[in-house]
Amino acid sequence: MSKDIYIIGSGFSALSASCYLSKEGYKVTVLEKNDTLGGRARQFKKEGFTFDLGPSWYWMPDVFEKFFADFGKKPSDYYTLDKLSPGYEVYFGKQDSLEISDKLENIYTMFENEEKGSAKHLKSFLDSAKSNYNTAIKDLVYRPGISPLELVTTTTVARVSQFFSTIRKQVRKNIKSNKLIQILEFPVLFLGAKPSNTPAFYNFMNYADFGLGTWHPRGGMYKVVEGMVNLATSLGVKFQVNANVEKILTDKQNNVSGLIVNGKTIETDLVLSGADYHHTETLLDQNERQYSENFWSKKTFAPSSLLFYVGFDKKIKNASHHTLFFDTDFDKHAEEIYDEPKWPSDPLFYANFTSMTDKTSAPEGKEAGFFLIPLAPGIEDTEELREQYFHKIINRFEKLTNQEVKNSVIFKKSFCVKDFKKEYNSYKGNAYGMANTLLQTAFLRPKIKSSKVNNLYFTGQLTVPGPGVPPALISGKIASELINKNNH
Ligand SMILES: Cc1cc2nc3c(=O)[nH]c(=O)nc-3n(C[C@H](O)[C@H](O)[C@H](O)COP(=O)(O)OP(=O)(O)OC[C@H]3O[C@@H](n4cnc5c(N)ncnc54)[C@H](O)[C@@H]3O)c2cc1C
Repeated sequence: MSKDIYIIGSGFSALSASCYLSKEGYKVTVLEKNDTLGGRARQFKKEGFTFDLGPSWYWMPDVFEKFFADFGKKPSDYYTLDKLSPGYEVYFGKQDSLEISDKLENIYTMFENEEKGSAKHLKSFLDSAKSNYNTAIKDLVYRPGISPLELVTTTTVARVSQFFSTIRKQVRKNIKSNKLIQILEFPVLFLGAKPSNTPAFYNFMNYADFGLGTWHPRGGMYKVVEGMVNLATSLGVKFQVNANVEKILTDKQNNVSGLIVNGKTIETDLVLSGADYHHTETLLDQNERQYSENFWSKKTFAPSSLLFYVGFDKKIKNASHHTLFFDTDFDKHAEEIYDEPKWPSDPLFYANFTSMTDKTSAPEGKEAGFFLIPLAPGIEDTEELREQYFHKIINRFEKLTNQEVKNSVIFKKSFCVKDFKKEYNSYKGNAYGMANTLLQTAFLRPKIKSSKVNNLYFTGQLTVPGPGVPPALISGKIASELINKNNH
């Protein structure tokens, strides 16, 4: 087989895979349907403001270091990282918030002040979280998800009960303060499911949070995309934007034989797709798809989101670079995402103001605001609903942080379910893929290699290891290793 490979999409997983494959001597071409690279991590610029359209939390810096080290490089060869202090802030009521320090000793003190005796419990919780981090992120997540045996190690066998208990149970066993519970249950939301549906083993996210801290690439997450594109280009990867893949072609032996891109046929016998898995399968004939619509409809997807990118004509007070608004009922909102999908009655939301720490993202004296409300995927999406919810959260924001901001909005751009579908071909408009529940972990996730079409591979947040930027980097590595192994 030839060593020419086409990669569909240019999200983090595709960029990562393109680097590894190029290093292995493949001639790599990345085909991206949009006019810029980076997938969900694209950038939006307007009137001197710069926004990351998607990811904004830079967690697990070691995963990025490991990625660049595989090419003899360091993140600092491409971008500058600042550790945020505080890492983030959480609002529980009017002018009632807690800041998460970038220093563990301060976090212990904060816990103790909120609930006497809780620091001791936090310490043992974090010891377990750190040990799970070392097992999961340094080892397990790099396995290809082919066999259940991949999960069997002396460490996982000893901790098997943590796969069958949940984060919610584990956190609530010893901590009683509602505020501290919410803080400890927050990190697993990045994995896309409710804490009551996420195995306790995933507490390694808490170590990522408190132990490793929250970082910010100066200039925004898009700097990471640019860094990876630079690396890939230096390794020989070719990029084509505005290249919409419309069909994956196969021959009579079910081998990949080509792609139709913008109406033109390209011959190729090796394809890796970093586009949403479900969408990629729709590019094949029905009998060549591994997973039915019924299969996908039964899966737990990470939420979609209603997002607003707002330019403010003044500086915002009483908030941090990352601020969470957990002043309403978490369980009710979760129910309205996962159990009875509907627009949330009283949503939790998240806001970031990157210009508070990074002058490059807004003109002097102004603030770049990003607001996110998690929503059920596939939900109705209209301009009226978007507007209604903007008012809901901006009124709450004003009240909770005790300031007027509505009259200082210069512009706002929204992004919701319809845009996720249109811009990324995302299944039901999900924002960050398929959740990591027990039954959607490792070998139980959609497979990296197609079992029906030879030489068709998948990477990204719907396959292993799961949602998030660090897992996407890892996914690209796993997929390229498997391709290389099968191609010898
Ligand atoms: C709003 C939001 C906030 C997030 N916040 C964080 C965060 O703070 N931290 C974090 O770690 N993670 C976060 N995530 C998750 C993270 O961004 C994703 O998990 C990761 O970027 C997904 O990368 P990917 O490689 O799977 O694919 P994607 O980024 O989805 O890329 C897929 C690409 O394929 C392209 N494509 C689709 N169909 C075709 C086609 N037919 N032809 C050609 N190209 C095609 C798409 O245009 C897209 O560019 C967030 C995600 C969102 C949406």
